[in-house]
Amino acid sequence: MANEGRIYLSPPHIGEAELRYVQEAFTTNWVAPLGPNVDEFERELAEKTAVRGAVALSSGTAGLHLSLKLAGVGKGDTVFVSTLTFVASVNPILYEGAEPVFIDSDFDSWNMSPKALERALVAARKEGRLPKAVIVVNLYGQSADMDPIIDLCERFGIPIIEDAAESLGATYKGKASGTLGTFGIYSFNGNKIITTSGGGMLVSDNVEALSKARYWATQSRDPALHYEHSEVGYNYRLSNVLAGVGRGQLQLLEDRVAARRAVFDRYERTLGSIEGISFMPEASYGRSTRWLTALTINPLMTGLNTTELLRALGDENIEARPVWKPMHLQPLLRKYDYFPHMPQYSVSDQLFTQGICLPSGSAMSVQDQDRVLDCISHHIRLSAKHAAV
Ligand SMILES: *Cc1c(COP(=O)(O)O)cnc(C)c1O
Repeated sequence: MANEGRIYLSPPHIGEAELRYVQEAFTTNWVAPLGPNVDEFERELAEKTAVRGAVALSSGTAGLHLSLKLAGVGKGDTVFVSTLTFVASVNPILYEGAEPVFIDSDFDSWNMSPKALERALVAARKEGRLPKAVIVVNLYGQSADMDPIIDLCERFGIPIIEDAAESLGATYKGKASGTLGTFGIYSFNGNKIITTSGGGMLVSDNVEALSKARYWATQSRDPALHYEHSEVGYNYRLSNVLAGVGRGQLQLLEDRVAARRAVFDRYERTLGSIEGISFMPEASYGRSTRWLTALTINPLMTGLNTTELLRALGDENIEARPVWKPMHLQPLLRKYDYFPHMPQYSVSDQLFTQGICLPSGSAMSVQDQDRVLDCISHHIRLSAKHAAV
């Protein structure tokens, strides 16, 4: 069994149009940062997500960094951010010398808890230290519950940056996830639902702010024939070759969402009835892409903890992962404030202890899905037998 091919968590899935756009870049010698593929990729993505503008960038992290600068975040400021996320949501806060404050998840969406956010905002106002921005992460393909979060942020006058790196293709009350805040970012890293091998996009209805981001991302070149600079700049633009990959991938987004949801459904049908296994819920306000199938496993009820299950899958050459380790538990970030869902109860801690992500690629074969399912069922049965003895 262990000799069978490796099953990856979320490998790239390339279609046919990508190479044509890349070829075009080569034929016309637009092998440069910027060019017609970049312009078209921006236009096509803005159209698909129904925003007024988009800026193609070298990564989603770059998009977060520029969003924070647009929100005026600087040294000594605070920024609120979801704790249950990948570290890329937080690093740009540190680039600017600002301080993160971590906000817990709720159980319904696994995303930012409006309750925890409210307590954190009230506490910050009391101290006279309201944040300059709130970064809301949309985890594993699902939007956070944006309405109560938007209400709170409007009440306190704070802009929202949506980290939608994992949620391109998801919806919230009919709108594209990533377009509900002041700024939103997507990622086209190799493991995301569509990829340019590496890249990102910043979206907003504020086109003036987007031109500023474009300027910063191109080394802040002032309009002059000689090279004139009055501000610090970055080299954050996307290459015209990679934008070609992105254009082809974007045409496939709906297929990719359907395929990932089908993988989820299959896992859920087989494992959903096992006592002690709970899948990440899909909140009723929108559609999740199920970018990654995530579930929790209760060791008391299944006789199996996440470490044992991950080891069993690893032994079968299957790549699975624990749910993100919350940022407030990271050695780099432990010293910053954290607001759990309820004063004495942290949801993200529990999701981290009991949660795992299963292989979820959109090209995953039914046979490979069965390999994952067989391995999990087998080990849960084994441990149930031990428990019965
Ligand atoms: C992937 C990811 C990012 C970073 O995107 P890059 O394009 O790799 O810089 C940011 N936030 C989250 C939640 C992610 O999953």
